[in-house]
Amino acid sequence: MENLKTVIGLEIHVQLKTKSKMFCRCDNQSFVETTDGKQAESKAPNTVVCPICLGIPGSLPVANEQAILWTLKTGLALNCEIAEISKFDRKHYFYPDLPKGYQISQYDEPFCLGGHLEIEGHKIRFNRIHLEEDAGKLIHQNGNSLVDLNRAGTPLMEIVTEPDINSPLEAGAFLRRLQKIVRDETAVSMADMEKGHFRCDANISVSDDDGKMSEIVELKNINSFRFIEKALLIEEDRLKSKYPDWPEEKSKVTRGYDSKKDETYIQRTKEEASDYRYFPEPDLPPFETAKFDLDKLKSGVYQFKDLKVGELTQLGIPESDAQILLKNSQKLDFFNGLKKHLKPENLETLSKVVVHNYLGFYSEDEDILKELAIAIDNLSENKISKQIFSLLSDQIKDGKSFNEAVLEYQNDGLDVENIIDKILAENSGEVTRYKAGAKQLMGYFVGQVMKKSGGKADPRKISSILAEKLDNQ
Ligand code: ZN
Ligand code: MN
Repeated sequence: MENLKTVIGLEIHVQLKTKSKMFCRCDNQSFVETTDGKQAESKAPNTVVCPICLGIPGSLPVANEQAILWTLKTGLALNCEIAEISKFDRKHYFYPDLPKGYQISQYDEPFCLGGHLEIEGHKIRFNRIHLEEDAGKLIHQNGNSLVDLNRAGTPLMEIVTEPDINSPLEAGAFLRRLQKIVRDETAVSMADMEKGHFRCDANISVSDDDGKMSEIVELKNINSFRFIEKALLIEEDRLKSKYPDWPEEKSKVTRGYDSKKDETYIQRTKEEASDYRYFPEPDLPPFETAKFDLDKLKSGVYQFKDLKVGELTQLGIPESDAQILLKNSQKLDFFNGLKKHLKPENLETLSKVVVHNYLGFYSEDEDILKELAIAIDNLSENKISKQIFSLLSDQIKDGKSFNEAVLEYQNDGLDVENIIDKILAENSGEVTRYKAGAKQLMGYFVGQVMKKSGGKADPRKISSILAEKLDNQ
């Protein structure tokens, strides 16, 4: 075969993990944690919506500053130029999951321009990064089409590359690297492809040495890196095999990928030139990026490749913990924040607390970090149990110092403890059965104590004191 060159360009949409949506205060968390704290399920349709994200006429959008900062941070991590002035535009099109009839996006003045990312020495340039809002979702069910607008208004960062990628496998490597950057280094997205946080469209064409070019094939909405690579490989072969009988007129074809058949199939030919009738969003003033502290943003980007597991293991942290810390910037951040205030001999406990998420929360607040470090020192030196540690940390999270939390614990602890002693004395039969293995009686004891305290005592505190009394005797 002739010297045929493959040309691939990518467009990646990244959902930002901000607390609220892009232009309103709605909760941006589309999944809920189940009670075991692990699996997540999606929220009931249309329960996290408001007049703004529903697009009700007369409602006014207000831009989410965190989303803008994170877009700039990502731009800085990808060597982009940050625009001095940037604005939002309306992009008009009709689709049932877009109630306004337009999407707030960015047209000619995106936040970030240019930039590049190197994959094994090959520079892949970016065209731009802009910020927009996600649309809702259509659900097709028993012949009906239903709309769920929970996702409408989620901040969406669109990253567009130049057509600099030369093979399907390079596209895969590029996407994996980019996912790691937005998930771990700038930490702006959960970037879970299966959940649609990180979505990719790819354009591929093939050309010969004389510049003769094939049609451009666009592959849309493929939800795994492996499938993107496979679909691109199929298209690359197909386009090459048709050489030199490529259509004279430059055309664009959209194809989908069927992962079960491992085939691509045609979706649309001869795309009409889209006319979105962009115009500046009149409800949002342009932004001057000079008002943000870009140096600080840039210094907040973790360069994971520079940190080594060895540096952490030398501090006495088990290698498996070090691996986990280096893979998760939020944990690493928290670890570093606490480490500053901790006695050096207690680092191993600290890594356990952070890696295994004993606390159930993260914090960047210096005062909280300082007090938590005291609690971790106490835990490490066996002055407090794990249960008490967790109760005290909850108080510290709410702004109390370690000493205040201890005092509070002792004060209401005393009352609760008295009640518990009485209950245990009155139920000696159950106590014996519990100790013989009937652990389900814990619920019964907690219930009795609750009843006696008039519902005032904290059930978690009751369980922890009960556990200490019953299990440690
Ligand atoms: Zn809303
Ligand atoms: Mn877009």
